[in-house]
Amino acid sequence: GAGRPMLVVSGLEAGYGGFRALHDIQLTVAAGEAVAVVGPNGAGKTTLMRAISGLLAPRAGRVDFEGTDLTTVPPHRIVERGIAHVPENRRLFPRLTVEENLKMGAFSPAARPHFAERLEWVYSLFPRMRERRLQVAGTMSGGEQQMCAIGRALMSKPKLLLMDEPSAGLAPVIVDQVFDLVRRIRQEGFTVLIVEQNVRQVLELVDRAYVLEVGTIRKSGTAAALKSDPAIREAYLGI
Ligand code: ATP
Repeated sequence: GAGRPMLVVSGLEAGYGGFRALHDIQLTVAAGEAVAVVGPNGAGKTTLMRAISGLLAPRAGRVDFEGTDLTTVPPHRIVERGIAHVPENRRLFPRLTVEENLKMGAFSPAARPHFAERLEWVYSLFPRMRERRLQVAGTMSGGEQQMCAIGRALMSKPKLLLMDEPSAGLAPVIVDQVFDLVRRIRQEGFTVLIVEQNVRQVLELVDRAYVLEVGTIRKSGTAAALKSDPAIREAYLGI
């Protein structure tokens, strides 16, 4: 309903065997917002994304999306409800073409009838992908592969896009291109939850951010507040 955030994560706990990777996570994302989760290696950022998209079953807590708790909903149903995940390292099918990869984002029975129309939409957003549609994905540049991975996620016409370190492992000039892409996704009106280690650049394009350290939210606030926070400046912005 009106005024209620689209995504409300509360008391979330997740881990691997005896290891607790996330502890008592509280986080919200309102419709139309772009929110970042930043933090050092191993803080639990990927684990959080996987717990939201149902790829990892949380041990406690809730992930409410538009008023429904997702913690017992299987991942493919979570996609149908409107959450798409652009995973860390892109996870394209490297030997398939761009178009075949995009098709993988619309394989659900609900999405399949809309395949042609969505493909057209993704190609209109990313003309480069139309040019490359028959190219084998693994032979493209890192930036193009990231564009393909984002396009694949958009094929499900998501309400919320989860992006896990889209700039990771890319050369600086390509990183800039990827951030431009994310900015365009925002301008298209998508609600975005993005994990990034590139704190300086991500704070330039989100509304708010959460700082995750050793599995706990240490701090949160508007991008502007975090950019001027002395502790954040020292630990994450090198100032
Ligand atoms: P990075 O930036 O390196 O991807 P991250 O913040 O995304 O880090 P996670 O990948 O969520 O962190 O990992 C959080 C913690 O959980 C780390 O200590 C990691 O070693 C551990 N971990 C992650 N995946 C597994 C797994 N499959 N089995 C055991 N431990 C894991």
